[in-house]
Amino acid sequence: MKPLSRKTAIVTGASSGIGQATALALAREGANVVATARRFDRVEDLSRRIEQEGGSSLPLRCDVREPKEVENVVDVACKRFGGVDILVANAGIMPLSLMRHLHVAEWMATVDVNIKGVLSSIAAVLPVFLEQKSGHIVTLSSVAGRKLFPGSAVYCASKYAVRALSEGLRMELSPSDQIRVTIIEPGAVMTELLGTITDPEALQGIRENFQEGKALRAEDIASAILYAVTQPPHVNVNEILIRPTFQE
Ligand code: NDP
Repeated sequence: MKPLSRKTAIVTGASSGIGQATALALAREGANVVATARRFDRVEDLSRRIEQEGGSSLPLRCDVREPKEVENVVDVACKRFGGVDILVANAGIMPLSLMRHLHVAEWMATVDVNIKGVLSSIAAVLPVFLEQKSGHIVTLSSVAGRKLFPGSAVYCASKYAVRALSEGLRMELSPSDQIRVTIIEPGAVMTELLGTITDPEALQGIRENFQEGKALRAEDIASAILYAVTQPPHVNVNEILIRPTFQE
């Protein structure tokens, strides 16, 4: 039997990068994967690929800025698979900018997706986990959740927030809840994330970290997530910080 057989995992932001690689990795270890994102065609393709590999997957459209859409994902997953075991709250954006350039709409979007979207995802799944007395919440913070970079103030704030709310949740849960919380903190990973940057000065400042062959691959982060969620129930991997070897 595979380590995640009979487990169900919801992955937000599964249409590209880390979310997509994680969905594939979880499915290969036997999980039913509910792959969600706004770009439904992409999660549909991903689910088809998982099924072709012999896995089980359900694609659902979900914008994490809409709490009702996240609640619907959890409802549909419970009806289809009888419960949810793992939430990977991965959806995120990184429209870096210097604050003096006043990309205010992007600041607000970062808060809406990276903080409120994670909160809505946790709010949707937590009642199920508390009722089941089991569950695993994986959140995507970042090296930017531990260290500030010029041009990254708002993004860093969002990733500091993800760390704070994840660790705070872990501390509030009692051992009898049997709910685990893992914070993943990647350094530079080659994905589509840089595509959300519209400020050339901010982009220039981080380009050096994102070089093919030097930066991490989405699969490297998927492996870390897989490690955390395949530990025995008494092991709660609280935090994993992963930098590319060359990154300071
Ligand atoms: P990608 O841009 O490749 O993927 C981001 C995913 O988030 C996409 O699937 C996108 O799907 C989804 N997303 C964005 N906005 C929303 C929304 N409103 N509702 C639902 N889904 C949304 O980036 P990564 O894979 O790199 O990023 C994944 C996570 O990892 C993010 O939280 C990011 O901050 C974090 N991270 C990334 C690092 C990196 O260097 N790449 C480093 C550290 C952390 P769609 O547009 O279809 O909705």
